[in-house]
Amino acid sequence: PHVANQIAAGEVVERPASAVKELMENSLDAGASKVSVRISGAGKKSIVVEDDGFGMSAFDAELSLQRHATSKIESSDDLHCIASHGFRGEALPSIASVSRFRMQTALADSREGVEVRVDGGAASEVRPAPPRKGTRIEVLDLFLNTPARLNFMRTDKTEEAAIVEVFRSLALASPHVAMLLELDGRKRFDFRAQTESERVLAIMGADFADNSLEVTITHEGMQISAHLGLPTFHYRDSTRLMFMVNGRVIRDKLLIAAARAGYRDVMFHDRYPVALIKVEIDPADVDVNVHPAKREVRFKSPQAVRAGIVACIRAGVERMGQ
Ligand code: ADP
Ligand code: MG
Repeated sequence: PHVANQIAAGEVVERPASAVKELMENSLDAGASKVSVRISGAGKKSIVVEDDGFGMSAFDAELSLQRHATSKIESSDDLHCIASHGFRGEALPSIASVSRFRMQTALADSREGVEVRVDGGAASEVRPAPPRKGTRIEVLDLFLNTPARLNFMRTDKTEEAAIVEVFRSLALASPHVAMLLELDGRKRFDFRAQTESERVLAIMGADFADNSLEVTITHEGMQISAHLGLPTFHYRDSTRLMFMVNGRVIRDKLLIAAARAGYRDVMFHDRYPVALIKVEIDPADVDVNVHPAKREVRFKSPQAVRAGIVACIRAGVERMGQ
């Protein structure tokens, strides 16, 4: 099982940001109203994710570290249901197989909690711990026993940027949850529970509110609504160009290219707009890839989606000009 976990780990956790994503999604699935993420050394040294969700019993905490021990599928039909984020029961055992892993958790109102420790996928040590509200997971020395993976890591700056992007996407998807991100002891984001539009502004930055406008159009049965930054307000990277498809945050080359095409006449060719673009489309016309480490999407008619996004942005750009 040890080796199977390490192999699975290669798929599920290819870099620190993927571990952050899995842990944060678990916290959100646990109904947390606040999720705090503390990172040091770009996630290679430590990742700590703490939530105030419903927690686990000692029994479930131990079980959660066994492969395919998901509490989120009842039948194989549920495999098609992607309401909850994770459903494969692979993230925790994978992460624990390639790190020094510590988890403290308790059920609400329980008089005791539990701590589970796993070092590099070895047998877990379980001991009683004080009661608490929710779960705290600490991932130390990620990839300590998989040097090949460690060598694959990019610079700290790049790995941190990937973590920030994961955090932004999840923060956008769950505005009603308070979320904190600290990098090496410095606060990067500290979001209170808020409405979606408040969260969008918080994510995009203070000046976005005064430098953006909202446009909604319909195009071939899709509804596309966009919160568009002005062309003067643009970046050399695509981190503040965000998409939601049917309520799920997506990163996809096609969508990014479409947005740049929409802005093309008003923006330098090496820049990316700051914008949130939401596409509502018939679920039959879209296939959200459920690979655990990715957020990709396949459209039945990519050209129509592209044209819709371009039309929406052009409409916005026209209004900006007035
Ligand atoms: P999955 O999310 O696919 O079910 P994971 O390996 O991510 O698999 O988690 C395994 C199980 O551990 C989950 O199904 C859930 O029951 C439990 N779990 C993990 N993290 C938390 C958390 N933060 N709060 C409560 N339960 C959790
Ligand atoms: Mg999960």
